[in-house]
Amino acid sequence: MTAITDTAPPYQTDVLIIGSGAAGLTMALRLPEDLDVLVITKGELVGGSTPWAQGGIAAALGGTEDVAQHVEDTIRAGANLPDRNVVQHVVEAGPAQIEWLESLHMPFTHEGDDTDTLHLTREGGHSRRRVAHAADHTGRSLTDTLVAAVQARPNVRVLEHHNAIDLITARRLGETRDACLGAYVLDIKADRVVTIRSRFTTLATGGAAKAYLFTTNPDSATGDGVAMGWRAGCRVADMEFIQFHPTCLYEPRAKSFLISEAVRGEGGVLLRPDGTRFMPDHHPDAELAPRDIVARAIDSEIKRLGIDCVYLDISFKGRGFIEKRFPMIHERCLEFGYDMTREPLPVVPAAHYTCGGVMTDLDGHTDIPGLFAIGETAHTGLHGANRLASNSLLECLVFGEAAASRIVEQRDIPPQEWPEIPPWDESQVTDPDEAVVVTHNWDELRRSMWSYVGIVRTTKRLSRARARINLLRREIHDYYAHFRVSNNLIELRNLVEVADLIVRSALNRHESRGLHYSRDFPETNPRADHFDTVLIPPPARPYPITRQDRSAGAPPPEEA
Ligand SMILES: Cc1cc2nc3c(=O)[nH]c(=O)nc-3n(C[C@H](O)[C@H](O)[C@H](O)COP(=O)(O)OP(=O)(O)OC[C@H]3O[C@@H](n4cnc5c(N)ncnc54)[C@H](O)[C@@H]3O)c2cc1C
Repeated sequence: MTAITDTAPPYQTDVLIIGSGAAGLTMALRLPEDLDVLVITKGELVGGSTPWAQGGIAAALGGTEDVAQHVEDTIRAGANLPDRNVVQHVVEAGPAQIEWLESLHMPFTHEGDDTDTLHLTREGGHSRRRVAHAADHTGRSLTDTLVAAVQARPNVRVLEHHNAIDLITARRLGETRDACLGAYVLDIKADRVVTIRSRFTTLATGGAAKAYLFTTNPDSATGDGVAMGWRAGCRVADMEFIQFHPTCLYEPRAKSFLISEAVRGEGGVLLRPDGTRFMPDHHPDAELAPRDIVARAIDSEIKRLGIDCVYLDISFKGRGFIEKRFPMIHERCLEFGYDMTREPLPVVPAAHYTCGGVMTDLDGHTDIPGLFAIGETAHTGLHGANRLASNSLLECLVFGEAAASRIVEQRDIPPQEWPEIPPWDESQVTDPDEAVVVTHNWDELRRSMWSYVGIVRTTKRLSRARARINLLRREIHDYYAHFRVSNNLIELRNLVEVADLIVRSALNRHESRGLHYSRDFPETNPRADHFDTVLIPPPARPYPITRQDRSAGAPPPEEA
């Protein structure tokens, strides 16, 4: 790997990969070494959700019967909405992905010190043990493994602190045929926009859970890939299916600290502020009900009582037990002033995983020639209405490889001639005058999504959210049209786009299924399928390069 701080933009590369999580790095490693690969990330090379993954990677390592069961488990978890062909394809590819990671020296946990047999755990929704893991830090070990391998690859260059603003497509440059030609990217440290021209481009930017006030995701999860793909002309699907984790510490300073389901597994109970238990009123299994039910019950208590959070109590198990069983959680909570050996912890559900995204085929290829989308950014058809635990890292690995293979197939086709890409023109925009507008809108957007587009939905609340999002969209667009771009502004522009897509998808789904629960449509419609809420993009608008062009690219009233 080489840092390319010494070469000057505009950059040119065979393959541009936007995002350095499990999906992006896998693809970089799966490409042949004679292709020039440029990975950009808006943060550090180690970033995104991948290092946060605790559980593991699902893979049917137990033979044919296990493959069949993994397929059925995935389809059941996804409330019959996953695409069976895609599920079969991904599940069959699972064991080879684990083997590949082992060949890269991924430190998986084994059955015993001297055995070659992987230790497999069982997670919710899996009918048997099939989750390979590296203790309780699989994501961190996976990241370290992939980063080390990428660093040994001379053909892979990495640009950190580079935030992709928009894709450059032939159609947006006035051509009748379309293709992705690269991206405009903000070099955050140098505070300038650079052009990257590429023959193949991949969106591997992770999820969009930052659209919600409470999330388990890192700050990077602002749905940039979905928003960029949508603006460029890609179809987007299943955005209404946002997975919420039931218990995240309710503490602004903790940002996104998960309180593991194991706390409930060990007897922890959920309480209202007055100390009464509420889960027995919602499900016969009380605190051990499925994740979605617990999240929905907490949400309904919070809304019904108008409170900020509920409480999770395990203090009655005693200090000795808690310190031994939950050392990391206990220590982290103490940092924020909560002693779980003596008192209940304040918790809220938090947005955890984005099931929908940019639509792709089995190779991760999108509607635009030369453009791929992989990992959490993509909608491949694997998850349907709910993600089966630990299937997401598997999806990153399988589609990272598949996209690379497709490029290998296409690399010898002579490239077409495309027009020159105009440089980013900032001559008619000025420095932002009131950065507070961005901060305020950011906060309002995430609060509105939390209040109106959360776990339990109604058509009235969704419509209210849509009205607010429309106002914010116009304001943010206006700001974007007049001022120089900044990191926060780029993210906010994407977040509002993605929030709009989530709300529109939710309004289009006239049933309750998987992660989408509507009080107005509480039943599942057996005839609904995954094309019901596919969103078709408006015709691609001209490039928002100059101030006038940016204004011209404003969302039309009926769309805004
Ligand atoms: C707390 C937690 C626990 C989880 N546990 C598990 C688990 O046990 N098993 C499992 O399978 N899944 C788990 N998941 C989900 C899984 O971790 C993610 O779905 C997966 O890591 C996503 O990988 P990715 O490569 O698609 O994106 P990410 O890992 O999120 O990487 C995205 C990358 O894109 C970059 N980026 C974003 N926008 C831009 C832009 N505009 N320009 C440039 N770069 C950009 C980011 O900086 C980052 O490098 C968990 C998630 C969380 C949050």
